[in-house]
Amino acid sequence: MDGARGWQGKDSDTAISRVAVVGGGTAGWMAAAALSNKLKGLPVSIRLIESDEIGTVGVGEATLPHIRAFNSTLNISEPELMKATEATFKLGIEFCDWGQIGDRYIHPFGDYGPVINEIPFYHFWLRMKSHGDASRLDEYSFPIMAAENGRFRHPSPDLSKIESTFGYAYQFDASLYARFLRRYSEANGVVRTEGKVVGTHLNSETGFLETVTLDSGEVAGADLFIDCSGFRGLLIEQALQSGYDDWSKWLPCNRAIAVPCETRGPLTPFTRATARTGGWQWRIPLQHRVGNGHVYCSDFISDEAAERQLLENLEGPTLAEPKKLFFTTGRRRSFWNKNVVAVGLSAGFLEPLESTSIHLIQDGLTELLTLFPEKSFRRSDIDEYNRRMGLHFERVRDFLLLHYVATQRDDSEMWRHFRSLELPDSLQEKITAWTTRAYIIKYEFGVFHPPSWIAVMLGQNLRPRGYDRRADAVTEGNLVANAAAIRRDIAAAVRSTPEHAAFIEQIGAASGTAALAASAT
Ligand SMILES: Cc1cc2nc3c(=O)[nH]c(=O)nc-3n(C[C@H](O)[C@H](O)[C@H](O)COP(=O)(O)OP(=O)(O)OC[C@H]3O[C@@H](n4cnc5c(N)ncnc54)[C@H](O)[C@@H]3O)c2cc1C
Repeated sequence: MDGARGWQGKDSDTAISRVAVVGGGTAGWMAAAALSNKLKGLPVSIRLIESDEIGTVGVGEATLPHIRAFNSTLNISEPELMKATEATFKLGIEFCDWGQIGDRYIHPFGDYGPVINEIPFYHFWLRMKSHGDASRLDEYSFPIMAAENGRFRHPSPDLSKIESTFGYAYQFDASLYARFLRRYSEANGVVRTEGKVVGTHLNSETGFLETVTLDSGEVAGADLFIDCSGFRGLLIEQALQSGYDDWSKWLPCNRAIAVPCETRGPLTPFTRATARTGGWQWRIPLQHRVGNGHVYCSDFISDEAAERQLLENLEGPTLAEPKKLFFTTGRRRSFWNKNVVAVGLSAGFLEPLESTSIHLIQDGLTELLTLFPEKSFRRSDIDEYNRRMGLHFERVRDFLLLHYVATQRDDSEMWRHFRSLELPDSLQEKITAWTTRAYIIKYEFGVFHPPSWIAVMLGQNLRPRGYDRRADAVTEGNLVANAAAIRRDIAAAVRSTPEHAAFIEQIGAASGTAALAASAT
């Protein structure tokens, strides 16, 4: 009988039974949806408190492919989601004017060519290039060629096919996504409370958050609080003073102006980021409109000039007043502090150049569910969560910074500023390994894999001096013939791929807006 001791199951006194999510933006409703799904069947109540009067950030439209895994664990149907959020498909991001004015390249969601004898194809391409080959690396990427031709299809499940070699994400209205997840969460038992949090109460001995007080006078308690209150960090900062690491010295952009406009031309299956003199401009095509915004640094361009540049570079008439946003790039020093976990903008913010914010919400929720606490809140679990999230944020920071420093531009104060910037060691090492022997150091954690780094480095003219010498083992004739066959296969696969708008109609994901219908004809 002694052997059974310690196997009696969880003590109900130690298990978390009440979770409160404060904030109902994209982060809040993603948290509510994920927790209500993963904790289904357990005696855990989840409530979400949000204030319509305060509102949400209300921008955020481009995502990364990982969001599909998030949606699929919730059993969300793709056409239903796309219709409800005015979504389009995204094969990558087109970067214009980053290396030099006039340059353009696509960062695709997929690899370049096959792996041959364990060596990634780009090494063979670099070898061919050194012998004068004229092909672009892009021609070995199905998602780039499909994007350039305005086409989209789902990846083939047959892994031997070239059409299986990519991932995809969505461009959608993040506010509508939050609304969609609200319906999902409420159907799953999440209770929503409308109200403004006006006070917090900490336990005088432990410093743990015990209750929040609403403007109605109601006092709401929980074992675990998830702070999704946005930039203000109502619980993690205002109540617990967790601190913020300001990363402006590396990523100085601190403002954005966002404005939607009418669509002109065919529906593109990619996001565009165009470098400007004091920042950069996004273009995100949705089914019913195009989202645009100018992210900039107030040290290098005035608000008036930034707004003028944005409005002068729209493809159609505006559909709303421009919206101004202010932020400080960086991360919360402790994402998880005592019994409060910050997710979303309350955890930190990195400019949306690579569409990473919603992804970092997903990372936060995945790590939280992996390390889901008991009421005792083990110090080591909290430390591990903070370590992992710190790495997720740092990896994104390095990748964003790469876009600003791998450049030949010096035509404005901002670009000259980046020329003399001292880089984080982690990024400096990565650049050196690339420029010497075309090697991409793989990080522990981090959302961007080698093909993403290669896309930006080559796209911005950071050319390596060498390549993996094992690539020389293949005969020249074989290599050239194989490379030509890959290019031909991709071109043929793209020709048989539907136009983007037509594919959205075909799978029943069209919301019925006139803009999409015009594009599909
Ligand atoms: C310029 C810009 C562009 C972006 N573009 C992208 C993009 O393309 N892709 C991407 O992935 N991400 C993007 N993002 C980020 C994305 O918008 C956010 O990560 C996402 O919307 C999550 O925001 P949130 O839910 O954390 O905060 P918010 O949207 O600010 O929501 C905060 C919530 O907290 C509530 N709240 C606050 N205070 C109280 C209170 N006292 N009482 C009760 N409730 C309260 C509010 O009512 C609201 O419901 C962008 C962000 C910015 C600033």
